[in-house]
Amino acid sequence: MNLSVFDLFKIGIGPSSSHTVGPMKAANAFAKGLVGLCIVRSVQVSRITIDLYGSLALTGRGHRTDVAMMAGLSGYAPDSVDPSELDRLLSQVQLAEQLHLNGTMPVPFQLQADYREHQTETLPFHSNGMRFTAYDEAGNEIVSEVWYSIGGGFVVKEPIAAAIDAAAGVSIPFPFESARELLRLAKAHGLTLSEIIARNEDVIRPRDETVAGLLRIWSVMWSCIERGCQAGGVLPGGLKVKRRAALHFSKLSNMPTNEVTGMDWCSVYALAVNEENAAGGRVVTAPTNGAAGVIPAVLGYALKYLPIVDRDGAVCQFLLTAGAIGMLYKRNASLSAAEMGCQGEVGVACSMAAAGLAALLGGSNEQIEEAAEIGMEHHLGLTCDPIAGLVQIPCIERNTMGAIKAVNSARMAVIYGDGRHFVSLDQVIETMRQTGVDMQVKYKETSLGGLAVNVVEC
Ligand code: SF4
Repeated sequence: MNLSVFDLFKIGIGPSSSHTVGPMKAANAFAKGLVGLCIVRSVQVSRITIDLYGSLALTGRGHRTDVAMMAGLSGYAPDSVDPSELDRLLSQVQLAEQLHLNGTMPVPFQLQADYREHQTETLPFHSNGMRFTAYDEAGNEIVSEVWYSIGGGFVVKEPIAAAIDAAAGVSIPFPFESARELLRLAKAHGLTLSEIIARNEDVIRPRDETVAGLLRIWSVMWSCIERGCQAGGVLPGGLKVKRRAALHFSKLSNMPTNEVTGMDWCSVYALAVNEENAAGGRVVTAPTNGAAGVIPAVLGYALKYLPIVDRDGAVCQFLLTAGAIGMLYKRNASLSAAEMGCQGEVGVACSMAAAGLAALLGGSNEQIEEAAEIGMEHHLGLTCDPIAGLVQIPCIERNTMGAIKAVNSARMAVIYGDGRHFVSLDQVIETMRQTGVDMQVKYKETSLGGLAVNVVEC
């Protein structure tokens, strides 16, 4: 599988890449295909049913999977939809008991009857399975498709081929499957890790478009931080979780400079992004939504505290380096909390951010690899146990911890280390994969274990 850096960083909406962004993309793809099929076959759709399985059925409502599905079927895409429009759309569908397939074809749809959650069933390929079925006026099936949301906003359709990714079918100059291969390629060609990825991206699009795309990603990340640092009130979903980023931001802004540390800013940036994500706002999936705060927080910290002259160049170097590390996890383990637990979300984001920061600190390729390894080593075994299925507790604070661990990982590797280390990144990725496979299902985004059952919802 060839991956682009833009498969790891995607503009989307909260609160979840696997339960919101992925289902919206799958529903959108199904709707587009169905409209085409109806035209070719001259048939009329009289009913659509959606069946959800596994983790999607268990925690989908808390992750706004229902809203995402309505939006996807109605022709909206996660990168362009206005998040503030979604509640209105859901109300319209519920009131009219009808949706407009891909924005054009009216189809009766009753949320209560046609949207079904099968909480005790799991489809064979992945815990996040969904089936879309369309019927004609005689009640005969027109088409039925099974899709899986496999983490980080990636979706696949049965029969399983490759995920829909930006670099599919492209022949890249520096293919790599492991960190070892990546380091060997970089050494052989005298390149940094970010240059390797940039040259691979060059066969997909001109360099200036890649640069513009990366700067756009950072601009959306920073806007998300700014919005999160201003917004107050409580988060939606029923837990009445109070938003804290604005309060922390205000306190920090008024404290004497010598009392404020970089960690304080790093933490408030991560809080801001994950509160925006929990509120269903515009975020960058990086590489998932649950962990969307870690990378912006660490990059924001770097731009504030490091003596950087070329800010645009630094943003690109950071994101390309982090992207290289994210590709390794995507290829050799998984980004899905439903498969790997939270080590697959916050752990991977921490590892990627550590690598990006190590690059900006002037680390060698070996030191960057070490930083990424440290970032994951201390997230191994981290379970996914969101209370009430909402991406709020422990998720929001967990991002602040991931961001701070990333900074420490990068500093340990670059400032105090020399790139020689005992555990390799490949070994830690394989350990993470094995740990994820062995982890009990209740700790993998089902809200059936951990904090989710030991903290009483009120
Ligand atoms: S516990 Fe971790 S993996 Fe699970 S939803 Fe929260 S941030 Fe994501």
